[in-house]
Amino acid sequence: MRQGPRGGGHLQELGNSCYAWVAQEAGWGYSNAGLIVGESGSLLVDTLFDLNLTAAMLAEMASVTRDRPISTVVNTHANGDHYFGNQLLRHAEIISSVNAAAHMSQSDLDSLRADLRAPGRHGDDVRRSFGRFDFDGITITPPTRTFEGELTLDVSGVEVRCITVGPAHTDGDLIVHVPSARTVYAGDLLFIGATPVVWAGPISGWVEACDRILDLDVDTVVPGHGPVTDATGVQETQAYLAHVESAATECFHQGRSFDEAVASIPLGRFGAWTEPGRLVQNVANVYQHLDPALPRMSHLEVMKRMADFESGFVPEEV
Ligand SMILES: [Zn+2]
Repeated sequence: MRQGPRGGGHLQELGNSCYAWVAQEAGWGYSNAGLIVGESGSLLVDTLFDLNLTAAMLAEMASVTRDRPISTVVNTHANGDHYFGNQLLRHAEIISSVNAAAHMSQSDLDSLRADLRAPGRHGDDVRRSFGRFDFDGITITPPTRTFEGELTLDVSGVEVRCITVGPAHTDGDLIVHVPSARTVYAGDLLFIGATPVVWAGPISGWVEACDRILDLDVDTVVPGHGPVTDATGVQETQAYLAHVESAATECFHQGRSFDEAVASIPLGRFGAWTEPGRLVQNVANVYQHLDPALPRMSHLEVMKRMADFESGFVPEEV
């Protein structure tokens, strides 16, 4: 059996009943999580990409959760790096949005496993990003409760508000707000230090979702990937998204091909973020929303084009 990464992150105390699990890196598959601790129970925001990572995280959290066990899990969206570990919390109530739950399926896991077995260059690109994780033994464990709009929970004395804000990064994105701590867990609406990737869109929906976060007027923002941030991290993500949307839209209306658009959009300071090749998917997303008849690339094709982009990419001076 392939051995997944051990440890994979650290538990950061944010104060006011809140913790962040911060992954060791911001790249593919290494995601953050959150822990909100009440008087006699806790709420976990997201599980991780494989069972080893999730078990290691839970072990690190045990010093806090031993007397206040995790009774609730909230999945921020339906990408595997935020819910494949759910089965280790199957005794808990698992909550997500209606749209996220609709995308949590065995076929998601099966197609990832198939991509990892793909021969040659195609498979190599996927293995480079995801080969470090161990997908053996995972049983898709979907939410036991879904909602749309807002759901307020009482985590043994701590008010926690779950708010759907998708479609943005994915169809079913939600954020988790803890008003008393002036803290929000933003899931993959925020990649800090890494390039955001738009799977669902439209990008305008994601820009609006960032506004929703800023409107909460919080001090602490826990991203889905990268270090804990504040409003400035939200504004930088928003600036990247608005830049890509406006530049790609302009290329589209000038009649430029998708490939020409990708090659011509300057990244400027955003080129310092890891995974700059996600621009490929982001431009594809803008083009598909402007012309729904455009053919969709397979996941393997997207991964290949991202890798091609990054192999020739030189970040500009910032
Ligand atoms: Zn993620």
